[in-house]
Parts: sequence; structure tokens; C-alpha cells
Amino acid sequence: MKKILMINTGGTFSSRPGPHGLTPQMSSEEILGHLGKGSTDVQLDLEDYCSLDSANIRPEDWCRLSLRIGEVIAVYDGVVLIHGTDTLAYTASMLSFMLQNPPIPIVLTGSQLPLGAPMSDAADNCLCAIEMASSGMGGVFVAFNRKIMLGCRTSKVRTISFNAFESINYPNVGEFNAFGLQLNIRHDFVSPFFRIQTDYSDRIAVLKLFPGMDPDIFRFLQEHGYEGIYIEGFGLGGVPFLKGDFTAEIRRASEAGLPILVGSQCRYEGSNLRIYETGQRILECGGIPVHNMTQEAVVTKLMWCLGQTKKREDILRLFQQNLVQEVSFL
Ligand code: ASP
Repeated sequence: MKKILMINTGGTFSSRPGPHGLTPQMSSEEILGHLGKGSTDVQLDLEDYCSLDSANIRPEDWCRLSLRIGEVIAVYDGVVLIHGTDTLAYTASMLSFMLQNPPIPIVLTGSQLPLGAPMSDAADNCLCAIEMASSGMGGVFVAFNRKIMLGCRTSKVRTISFNAFESINYPNVGEFNAFGLQLNIRHDFVSPFFRIQTDYSDRIAVLKLFPGMDPDIFRFLQEHGYEGIYIEGFGLGGVPFLKGDFTAEIRRASEAGLPILVGSQCRYEGSNLRIYETGQRILECGGIPVHNMTQEAVVTKLMWCLGQTKKREDILRLFQQNLVQEVSFL
């Protein structure tokens, strides 16, 4: 019988109405009561990490969760992490960098409705997560709405619908049908060696461009000790270079040793800085392209990289590598 550890962090999944709206309250014991003991043929061990709306999850939680999972990885066949959906994709992405090439499945799930609510997707998502956690396929995954997605490729794309998550610029890892879990791809790991590396920096900023945005924000961020900036540019990744010139600021910041990443505000199909003058000038000025990564993967990879090195050249090199299938180069 497979041994699975289920770690509860909260979210809608375990929420009940309270004086301030929905609040995570159920313990993992109560969660198990709702799931029904006979619903899976695995040995399920439970652990309560916290009971938080995922808006309150912080990078230090990613670090502690990774260390905890690292401690039990030799003892369990898989881990299920119950998590609020709002920041689930960030956690899935950061766990992918902190726990590289895990030998067992680590599966995050949550729900759009609390356990026990009429029409709730919670039990279903959890059972799918347990099934994936029993699959023997190592990696960090998200189970939601009967799909299995690679953690570092997942984004929350809908606020209310049951298909809240999508795998962005990458195929689903698996789907459930009447025959059970159908795994679509075997991961071609860049390295077969499991490693835990939990250092990070949270001194980063994300700038979502809009027409007319003042580039002096760069100086502000630098003066306040920020260590890396991600610019979500227009379309394939362009930024203005005439009035309100961002490229000059990218050059100045890069020459000062600050890594400046540039990608697209568009969720799908990635960025490519080689096509337009508005992109090529970014490359000439030292901007680092993020290709087709999700915003969650860029943010967490930047935080993680800055935990390993502060050197811009090293960050550039790490962003030119596909560490955990988070990026493909067009
Ligand atoms: N606000 C909730 C959370 O992220 C939403 C959810 O879990 O679906 O914790």
C-alpha cells in the first residue's frame, strides 16, 4: 500500500463562513472525515502546517515546506499539499526550484468551494491529488479539475470557474477519465539528481508596463535596495525607447549589476525580444529575456536565483537554463 503524506495549509478547501467571510478553519483530521476513510486505498498520514488564506502565504513558508518535504521524502511515496488557490501557482513554482528533481510526486491542490459545500470540487480535487501522489512520477505538480499540471507551468486563470488553473505553454501532465489517471508525458529531467536549495531573496519587484509609465521607478527601486526587477512588457516583450525611455534605465541598472528581466504581459505563447526594435534594444541594453515562463515562475526563479548569487552574470546564466522544465526556448 502506498504511503502518502497530506499537509494542510488552508485555503477555501478547508474554509467555513466566519464573521469576516470565508476563513480556513478545518484541521486535516476534519478534512479526512469529509473525504471518507474508505475513499482511497493508500495509507494517508496527515499534518497541519497552517490554516491560512493563501494571500497570507510568504516565501518563508515555501522554505519551511520544502525543508519539511525534504525530511520525509525518503519515507513517503508521495506528498499532497492542500493550499489556497490564489497563490498556489507561486508555491508550486517555488517548490519546483527549491526541491529540484524530487524522486516522488509532490502534488498541490485546493478548491473553488469548501469541503462539504453543495457542488464542492474539494473532495474530487483531493482524490485526484492523492491518485497522482501515488503514481510514482517524481516532480512538483498541481491537481485541479481532473487535470494534472506541472507545478512550474501552472497559473490561476479564473476566479470562479472550476477550471481555475491552466498549464501555460506546456502540455498537461495527465488527465482523469473513466479509466482513471492517464499520464501524457514522462518528464525528461535535465538532471536526475534530487537537491534541496531553499535560499532566496524577496527583494524583487515586478513592473507591469502601461503607456506613459515613468521609468524613474527604476531609480526608486535601486535606491531602496531591490536586487532584481521583472518588467512585464508589451506583446512579445517591448518597452518604450523614445519619450519615457525604459531602455536607458535598463542599461543603467544592468551596468550597475542589477538583473533586469523582461517578458510579456500576455499570458500565452511567450515573449521574444529578437523580433521588434522595442525588444532588440532591451537585449542590447542588458535586459534578460524570460521566454515563455509564467509570471509565477519568473518571480520565484528570480527570488531563488538571488538566494544562490547576487551577480547579474550568474542570474543571466541561470535564466538561460531550463532548470526544472519551467521554460522552453523558441
Ligand atoms: N482566498 C482563497 C485562498 O487562496 C481562495 C481559494 O483557496 O480558492 O486561500
